[in-house]
Order: sequence, then structure tokens, then C-alpha cells
Amino acid sequence: MSSAAPFPAPRLGEPYLLTPGPLTTAFEVKEAMLRDWGSWDADFRAMTKSLRDQIVALAGDRKGDFTCVPMQGSGSFCVEAMLGTFVPKGGKVLVLANGAYGLRAAETMRYLGRAHTLIDKGDYMPPRGDEVAAALDADPAISHVIAIHCETSSGILNPVAEISEAVYSRGRKLLIDSMSAFGALPLDVTDIRYEAMVSSANKCIEGVPGFGFVVARRSELEACKGNSHSLALDLHAQWAYMEKTGQWRYTPPTHVVAAFLEALRLHAAEGGVAGRGARYARNRDVMVAGMRGLGFETLLKDRWLSPIIVTFFCPADPKFVFADFYERMKAKGFIIYPGKLTVVDSFRIGCIGRMDDHVMRKVVAAAGEALVEMGVTSAAPPEAALAERAKLAA
Ligand SMILES: *Cc1c(COP(=O)(O)O)cnc(C)c1O
Repeated sequence: MSSAAPFPAPRLGEPYLLTPGPLTTAFEVKEAMLRDWGSWDADFRAMTKSLRDQIVALAGDRKGDFTCVPMQGSGSFCVEAMLGTFVPKGGKVLVLANGAYGLRAAETMRYLGRAHTLIDKGDYMPPRGDEVAAALDADPAISHVIAIHCETSSGILNPVAEISEAVYSRGRKLLIDSMSAFGALPLDVTDIRYEAMVSSANKCIEGVPGFGFVVARRSELEACKGNSHSLALDLHAQWAYMEKTGQWRYTPPTHVVAAFLEALRLHAAEGGVAGRGARYARNRDVMVAGMRGLGFETLLKDRWLSPIIVTFFCPADPKFVFADFYERMKAKGFIIYPGKLTVVDSFRIGCIGRMDDHVMRKVVAAAGEALVEMGVTSAAPPEAALAERAKLAA
């Protein structure tokens, strides 16, 4: 995708969603939903097969070792399905958390009533390979580790390659929540070893919400019969039924699947994972440089910044009120996202969705105007925020 041609704006003054999904989708993706499909019909079964094949190809599987199982619901339904299906009732999970989604995985384990333990690094410090190795050495009962690829609550890109090496060097199994990264950041099965990975329709593939999907090592999934705590969220049963009939076990989100196939077509046209990732990285670079030019500071140092979403500290200036800033940005056509840090005030701006660096320049201009309107003269964060950031290794 050339950066010379701005993407068409959303229709009729619809704001851009600078949020990590649902996000701004292409007109063609929305248009693909303008017809009805019979879920058992051969046409829709072919659509399901195409979706599954394309996702496995995106995961980099060239040997037929992996399969894709889509599951109705939002991303969290799929995470719960993955954990409930892949972790046997007698297994134990080490959850690596540095934000809301890691903690949600631990909460899911609590609901499942299965053994788990947690490394909680707080709001954004990355879990490192050596501490994972130490935790596994200390507890032989741990059978699985779940890692979050991009922790969307801060935007940090966690070191999954190093985590995978630690897990397999100790003979354990890795599950990955790559919800907000898959499709834009490489997670090739030939480079990073894992048993199952989960993502959803409305993140980097730029579809609309309604289902998620698991990419699973076939031999591992085959061994998971009877593990699931849930009838509807049993990935093994969904997979076995799909393999046999070509159909989803229960009513599929037909329109969402149609939109997703169109989104996959646009993804391929853009150059696949590399092309999509390059556009998002450009979005981030232009937006971060512009925001820093206004005096804002990022929570993370450059090395940890993902091209998915970026956290900024709220300015110390008492005239800066986030709710006011939000409304002004919305009036200018941009929906931004509140922060999730527990220690200092912050907000987030997403880099994903159907938009390019031209749009990002307008986002920065809108932020500059909003500051002027609010009478904020400096966007510099409070000292406490900078002290917090200093804890993060370079
Ligand atoms: C979006 C997301 C999820 C799933 O959230 P839902 O609201 O259930 O779609 C899970 N993990 C991560 C890292 C995410 O970004």
C-alpha cells in the first residue's frame, strides 16, 4: 500500500477508531456483510475452509502440522476455549502477566478451577526468559505457560521468542494470546515454538467483531478430547465437527465471516504480515514523533513500543482533563482510548485499523489544537511518571 494515497475516510463524519478493536474497517469489509448466508450451505462451508486455510498459512505452517479452529464470540471466549481445551484437568498453568489481559487469563484459570500460578510484573514490565525458566525449575507441576504477545493494556511487545525458548528448554508447553498482534507482527511457527495461539477477527486482520480463532498444533489438539469444561467452548469438539462436516458446531456469525474473508483479501493485497506490520509501524512512528513534538511522553522506551497501540502520560498541567481532551478529539473525528495504568494517569492511541500516516498526522494536529483550546501550555508529564518509567530497562 503506497503511503501517497490516503485511505478514504469513514463515511458521513464517522470518527476514526484509534482503539485496538473494534477498529476502523474498510468500506469493502462492511459491504461484504450485505447478504445472508445459509450456515450449512456449500458456499458458506467453502468460506469457512478458506478462512481456516488462510489463517494457517499466515501462521507460517508449510508442513501441515497446524490447524485453525474458529470459535464464536469475542477474543476472551477464544482464550477461555484455548485454556479449557489445551490444559488437562490435572495440568497447571504459569500465567505471565504485565497488564489486564494477562490478569484476565489468570482469572479465566480461576473460573476453570484448574491449578495455576502467576508471575505478575505490574502495569508493563516485561516477563523475561530467565525468570520464566526459574519459575519452571521451582515448580515441576507446571505443564503449560501462557504468554501475552502484545499486552494491549500498555502496548508493550512482550519477548515471546525468549519466553518460548525458556518454556521448551524446560520441557513445558506454550500457549500464546496474540490477539492484538497476529497478522501484523511475525509469529511464525517455524521461528517461535508453541502449541496453540489465539487471535480474533477485529484486530490486525481488520475484520468486524464476532469470532476468534485458535491456531493449534494438530497432534496436540487431537490429544485434547474431553479436557474442556464447557460444551460450547470445546475447541476439540468444534474442530472434530468442522473436519467432518465443514460446518461450525453451532450458529456461526455468517456476516462476520464474510467480512473477515474480505479483510483477508485486503491483508494479502497489502503484502500480508510484512505489509500490514510496516503500515502500522509507520503509523506509530509518525504519531509518536508528532506527539513527542507536542511535548507528550510515552510510557515505554522505544525498544518496547509495539506498532499496535501506544500509551502516553497525561500532562501534569492541571488544565489537562482527560475527559475534556477525549471529547475534543472526538469532535475532531478521532476516538482515543483511556489508559489502564494503576500508578499514573495515561491515555492510549491505537495505530491499527484502516488508516495510514496521513491520518496519523491529522491525529497529532487535532491533539495540538485540543491542548490550545484547553489552555494547556505544556504536555510534559509529572515527575512521578518519569520516575516510574526509569524503572524500565532500556
Ligand atoms: C482484545 C484482546 C483480548 C480479547 O478481548 P475481547 O474484548 O474479549 O475481544 C485478549 N487479549 C488481548 C491481548 C487483547 O488485545
